[in-house]
Amino acid sequence: MEQLDYLWDYQKLDLLMDELENRKKSSPARKDLYKSIQYLKKQQNDLEKLNNNVDKRYHNYKRIFHEFQNIKDSLKKEEGILSTEEIKSAKQLEHLEKRIAEIYEKFSERKRELTALVNEMDSLNQNLRALNTRVRKGKKEYDINKREYDLVTKEIGQEYSKIKARRDVIEARLKSSLLKRYEAVKGNHSVVMAEIDQNRCGGCNMALASLVVQKVKDKNGVIECENCGRILYSGAEAQTE
Ligand SMILES: [Zn+2]
Repeated sequence: MEQLDYLWDYQKLDLLMDELENRKKSSPARKDLYKSIQYLKKQQNDLEKLNNNVDKRYHNYKRIFHEFQNIKDSLKKEEGILSTEEIKSAKQLEHLEKRIAEIYEKFSERKRELTALVNEMDSLNQNLRALNTRVRKGKKEYDINKREYDLVTKEIGQEYSKIKARRDVIEARLKSSLLKRYEAVKGNHSVVMAEIDQNRCGGCNMALASLVVQKVKDKNGVIECENCGRILYSGAEAQTE
């Protein structure tokens, strides 16, 4: 057998391997697995956002708590004045009452803020519980899809190894320069070798010069199609001649 005949057989197995790769890539199990990964990622993002919101609320809570302390302190101070110092005039009393009223106003304001905050915290907690349920569901789905995909890859992987072993036997017979050329064309065309069909390139259908056709039939070196660059081959025909 000539080098190109070996390469032809090599290509047959190479294409089978491509097909297996594609089958793996386009398998429903892979799509399902991808979907469940996306779903989990979304839940993770939501959880991050929720945590940020909780942090903000906590920060607010600390601020209001601090303000409560201040209000309590100023109230104590005003009460101290009321009990220890003599109120000398109606004006002074009025002034003191006004200050205490202001403090109470601040106090009610903080109370309103705190009530709103507690409500927000409640709804955040509800969201958190719903999110936890979604994460659990997502993880369960991921596990199922991962097992399914592992089965598919294992099955395809076994078939792939068998074909590769056969391809390796042929590869050992090929000159490395020819293999390199094959790989180079493979970068542009998934099917590297084109059979000649009625003096045309079987890859791109370009009409070939009769000299080229003859050279290919004679297996006189490696000849690429001028138009598409595929390695031209004249297989069964030449072998039966
Ligand atoms: Zn061509």
